[in-house]
Amino acid sequence: MKPMEEKSKKKVKGIKIKNINIYMMIISCVLYLFLIWATVHASQRYNMMITATEDYIACERNAALIEEGSDYLTEQVRLYTVTRDTVYVDNYFAEVYETRRRDVALEQMTAFNVSQEVSGYLQTALDYSNRLMTEEIYAMRLIARAEETAETALPDDVRKMELTEEDLSLSPEEMEAKAQELVFGSAYQESKELIMKNISYFVDNIIDSTMQNQKQSASKLKSTMTQQRVLISVLFVENIFVFILIIVLVINPLKIYIENIEDKEKLNVAGSYEFKYLALTYNNIYELNTANEAMLNYRAEHDALTGIINRGAFERLKQFLKTKDTPIALMILDVDKFKQVNDRYGHEMGDTILKKVANLLEENFRATDHPARIGGDEFAVILTDATEEMKPVIEEKIMSINNTLMNPEKDMPKVSLSVGIAFSANGFEDDLYRKADSALYVTKENGRCGYTFYEEKKE
Ligand code: GH3
Ligand code: MG
Repeated sequence: MKPMEEKSKKKVKGIKIKNINIYMMIISCVLYLFLIWATVHASQRYNMMITATEDYIACERNAALIEEGSDYLTEQVRLYTVTRDTVYVDNYFAEVYETRRRDVALEQMTAFNVSQEVSGYLQTALDYSNRLMTEEIYAMRLIARAEETAETALPDDVRKMELTEEDLSLSPEEMEAKAQELVFGSAYQESKELIMKNISYFVDNIIDSTMQNQKQSASKLKSTMTQQRVLISVLFVENIFVFILIIVLVINPLKIYIENIEDKEKLNVAGSYEFKYLALTYNNIYELNTANEAMLNYRAEHDALTGIINRGAFERLKQFLKTKDTPIALMILDVDKFKQVNDRYGHEMGDTILKKVANLLEENFRATDHPARIGGDEFAVILTDATEEMKPVIEEKIMSINNTLMNPEKDMPKVSLSVGIAFSANGFEDDLYRKADSALYVTKENGRCGYTFYEEKKE
């Protein structure tokens, strides 16, 4: 890792999208699994409730069927004992062997999953019912005997029924009376009531337990649905939370960064850890680029040796001042016999002197004036807002500079400057440079180490 990256990473504090994503994924998976579990449970509960309801209905229907079947048999046997019409015997056995309402209902009832005690009621009812049927068939046999009905006309069950010795000795009227007593008598009625009582015990028990099942299933379904509602609400809240996080951690920083980049600014560090890290890295690069750009600009405008502005920048300043109409002065300065200095003291010494000249120009002129190195040993100073009234000040400054150069520190050679100065009333007029240069020429001609103000008449 580069040092800059390390620095950026150390500075960054914030929520990592990567972590948030993992947490949210885990939370969502857990919530969805719970939701699926709750949904499966709810459907199971619902099925249980439906089954309990169906059981309840089947139970009621079967109880009614038993009663109907039983009453029908009673009715047929009674009608036979009274009318002696064998059609009722046929009806009776058609119910017993074909319609079988009572048996079908009883079979269905035994299918219910009940305790031994409860199924005991049903068994008792069945026993009584069978016993009652035997009595009914016995009554039919008595009537058939009294009537002296042909054996072949009787159904098997009646024919096979054997009468007791005692009953065989009865007269037909007595047989008839006994048969009627058997199916109309209080014993018969009591047996019938006992059957219905046992069946109703059984049915009540089943109904109780199915209703209990129904209630339990309903309450469980209710609690499962509450769980579902809670889970869906939590998922909803989690979704909203994720949306808010995306806005805060991703969308907002992106918006800010785009604005910053469009405005060519540093990025405002915002959002998630990743975005903050990106912003800090970008800002580091931005700072480096800005510094590099400033350095390149500085280098493009300044002379590497003396640090004052160079010829290129001087030319641009000249062009700029051509658009102005303020009075200015231009000084051109050249080091006298500089070749000899180089030759005698070496190039390095020559460089030192050039730097010293540049320093002296900067020290002696105002901050609003512009000293520049425009050639090897040639300098220029543009003095802004300068009229001819400033001539004494300029003279004084040039003399001071030359005085310093002529009285150098130890080990430094004496040097001097020749200067040409020209004034311009309206910005940098086109021939200002030529005028200053010709004034410099005059100074050189006059023996160097001095200055000349350009005079129109001298041209
Ligand atoms: P004059 O009085 O007529 O100006 O004589 P001079 O010897 O100064 O002549 P001129 O101005 O033509 O010479 C300029 C010399 O400056 C030539 C060159 O060797 C020297 N020079 C130019 N640039 C540099 C520089 O960057 N460093 C050094 N040490 N010398 C330079
Ligand atoms: Mg020179």
